[in-house]
Amino acid sequence: MKSTFLVAIILVVSAASFCFSADAKRPPNIVIVYADDLGYGDLGCFGSQTIRTPNLDQMAKDGIRFTDFYVAQAVCSASRTALLTGCYPNRVGILGALNPSSKIGISDKEMTIAQVLKTRGYATAIYGKWHLGHHPQFLPTRHGFDDYYGLPYSNDMWPSHPTSKFPDLPLIDGEKIIEKNPDQSKLTTTYTERAVKFIQANKEKPFFVYVPHTMVHVPLFASDKYKGKSKAGLYGDVTEEVDWSVGEILGALKKHNLEENTLVIFTSDNGPWLSYGSHGGSAGPLREGKGTSFDGGVRTPFIARWKGTIPTGKVCKEPAMTIDLLPTFASLAGADLPKLKIDGKNIAPLLLAKEKAASPQEAYFFYWGKELQAVRSGKWKLHFPHDYRSVKGKTPSEGKPAPYANLKLELSLFDLENDIGEATNVADKHPDVVARLQKLADTMRDDLGDSAQKKEGTGVRTVGMLDETKK
Ligand code: MG
Repeated sequence: MKSTFLVAIILVVSAASFCFSADAKRPPNIVIVYADDLGYGDLGCFGSQTIRTPNLDQMAKDGIRFTDFYVAQAVCSASRTALLTGCYPNRVGILGALNPSSKIGISDKEMTIAQVLKTRGYATAIYGKWHLGHHPQFLPTRHGFDDYYGLPYSNDMWPSHPTSKFPDLPLIDGEKIIEKNPDQSKLTTTYTERAVKFIQANKEKPFFVYVPHTMVHVPLFASDKYKGKSKAGLYGDVTEEVDWSVGEILGALKKHNLEENTLVIFTSDNGPWLSYGSHGGSAGPLREGKGTSFDGGVRTPFIARWKGTIPTGKVCKEPAMTIDLLPTFASLAGADLPKLKIDGKNIAPLLLAKEKAASPQEAYFFYWGKELQAVRSGKWKLHFPHDYRSVKGKTPSEGKPAPYANLKLELSLFDLENDIGEATNVADKHPDVVARLQKLADTMRDDLGDSAQKKEGTGVRTVGMLDETKK
């Protein structure tokens, strides 16, 4: 009898301690708000004088701002692929921007952030623009997300496009098309409402919410609350509404007492679409914009907040990239990495502002399509000779993008610490640096190829192909 009683006590005590330790080890919630085509210079905390972004500015004060944060390629699908898989888009095979006639998408063999976090019991959702394939087999619900509401690709791929023909633009809930050519002035609001509801519904367990806003990609739409309110025209109105969205999400975290258990990240998929003039954003001090491998295309504003864990008011000047977020989240959540090779590395020490934390990557590589155009290592960025597009000196006509001029860049080395605008080529002065970066690039060419050298990489995997049987 005595021993039965003792066993019962032991069982109760160990059950209680198990509950306690399970709760203590609850991994953090993770929220990513991903703007579309928002420039490096479009937020107050990144120097904008005309666009008001009080919520993002406060978020930066309450956490950390990265000055040298990159996306892997300066265009929508490629950039999102890198974020969600932790790989350079060339490894996964999704380049450029997919469109309604694309027959490819993310392969079932790849593992997204959502799938990685699911192994640790996360509830997962995406509200916004997907762009990793619009056929059912490629949709977010087939790649780790419990819930999805949004557009499967860009909002300008619709019948009103000024220069191209596109079919009706679908709005998807789960896997069902619920509307065609929806009123885009409501999207920022509805994505936000869905995110806030999801947070409330899942407050008792770890969750991952990804909010890739359709805005501030052209065509621009603001709700009546924001239309005509900013000093920066419609682009400013739309950006200020995205800032409102961040405020609502932060408000929901506060309301449910989740601020100290939630890492919130804000960044953009690529730089501003400069050919749209006042409907495109500003790259601030950076050279060029979307569609180029200059920093104006690939360097984006990045803010992270995790109350009580990330110290307040920090600024990180080390280079980092979206590919690093998957392994960082895996580390924070205690999840295993995908079995297939990824390119990202854990940047938790940078994110948590640990003293003397340095970038774990020797270099970051910038492809445009299959062409390796540039490599950054430390403060140096080496561009290989390539053609690039520029709108310099051209003005867009009403509602239509300005035509690009195709320009040529010679082999160029820039010292980003002293020349943020990539204006002065110092390759002749630093042949040793050029040689070191060339060598790093050659290693990458063996792995992921380089069309400029007609080289196929051995590490390129097969992209997901449309399979009509996978409805
Ligand atoms: Mg974009």
